[in-house]
Amino acid sequence: MIEGYCVKCKAKRPIADAIEEQMKNGRKAVKGKCPTCGAVMFKILGGKALATPTPPPPPSPDPAAHPVPPHSQEVPTAPAPAAAPATTTDPTGPTGPSNA
Ligand SMILES: [Zn+2]
Repeated sequence: MIEGYCVKCKAKRPIADAIEEQMKNGRKAVKGKCPTCGAVMFKILGGKALATPTPPPPPSPDPAAHPVPPHSQEVPTAPAPAAAPATTTDPTGPTGPSNA
């Protein structure tokens, strides 16, 4: 016995003269009449539709979203050579000749 909801009786009623039908989307439904008031009843049966739902596309890597920097290795591997100590080679320095 297939139960349906009668909109006229506003109550659940067993569908009389139930005929199983297939809808356009592949799902099954039952069409019949209300045994109390005779109103047409229509009940959609749960079930898988024949048409397979299309799954969402997998997330594709977007090159624009993650731009690769052209110079990703800017860190110097060797420290810059320190400046050579300045050698004072001034002949007139404190060590120069001084004739008192
Ligand atoms: Zn009814």
